[in-house]
Amino acid sequence: MAKSKFKFSKKHRAYWGKKIWKNLPIHKFELARSVYPSQSTDSSAKAFIYRDVFDYISRCILDYPNIETGGQLFGFYTQEGYPVVVYAIGPGPHANHQTAFFNQDNEYLLKYYDALSKYCLQKIGEWHSHHQLRLTVPSVHDASSVGITIKKHGLNSHLLCIGNVDVEGRSTLNAFFFRKDDNNDYQPIPWNIVMMDNPYRVMIDNDQELIGVHCHPRTLNARHGENYLVDKKPNYQDGYWFNDKSNRQVLKAIIDYLTNLDRGCTVTPQIDKSGIFHLVVQRNEEKMTIVFGKNFPQEAPMILFSDGSTMVPEWKYKGSVYDSFVECYNNFALAKLNNNNMYNF
Ligand SMILES: [Zn+2]
Repeated sequence: MAKSKFKFSKKHRAYWGKKIWKNLPIHKFELARSVYPSQSTDSSAKAFIYRDVFDYISRCILDYPNIETGGQLFGFYTQEGYPVVVYAIGPGPHANHQTAFFNQDNEYLLKYYDALSKYCLQKIGEWHSHHQLRLTVPSVHDASSVGITIKKHGLNSHLLCIGNVDVEGRSTLNAFFFRKDDNNDYQPIPWNIVMMDNPYRVMIDNDQELIGVHCHPRTLNARHGENYLVDKKPNYQDGYWFNDKSNRQVLKAIIDYLTNLDRGCTVTPQIDKSGIFHLVVQRNEEKMTIVFGKNFPQEAPMILFSDGSTMVPEWKYKGSVYDSFVECYNNFALAKLNNNNMYNF
């Protein structure tokens, strides 16, 4: 991929580094690699989960809004190899909760391994919450830990889910699928939430082996923020730039560019109900969304600010989407610098 000839000036750096986002929390994590895509991106991949399990994990996350927590996921795989989560546990009574890491209570976990094997349910992954660290993807350490687990146990794949607490006090849970040949890389996959009653929940909650063992969350009600869900009626436009798999490496480069520009921000790809691609750039409570419309790259991406206002930056497409994006984004940063109060996000 050609590098942009556009240089990021000292003036820009000073602006992005100090002026806009000057009150930065110290991140315990280095930002992980870009969210999207992994080497073996499979556009059909998804993770199934029963609604009550999704709610249960939300309650567990909300129990610990300022510190890490976590648990394990039990279930099986579909014929295509996609994970189906039918039961989840939260932290055991002796779990170790810290700001930047979480260790499960092993004795607690082992009791579930034993009890759930009779239902033919196996551990297929785990979840943990980065609470309000604004890290919505696995950290580098998370990714290498899963890689080690896959190698050590000879697994084909493993599911890691990362929770967060958003600014409105709601939980989010993102699913990342690791495959054995991906060398610690991963694919973010959407949730397909099964809305039927979960046949396992009542049985396991009342299992004689587990009476007195369960350590249920104190939070009574789930509160979900924005989660990456399977679009039940995908409406992708024919010819849309993001539908072409060969363009995904360019998208990855764009995400890398944005995260490297400011390593304290998170860049999250999203697809709306009409199949239009967004990148959400967030630092603390400041958020902006870059919307790539159906005529991109012939037409400019649109920037949506958190107050609902929008702007269309100057866009000169000359054949390289990456170079055009970098030039456009730098001009946008300069425009913000000259109109400090104009765009408030
Ligand atoms: Zn983590």
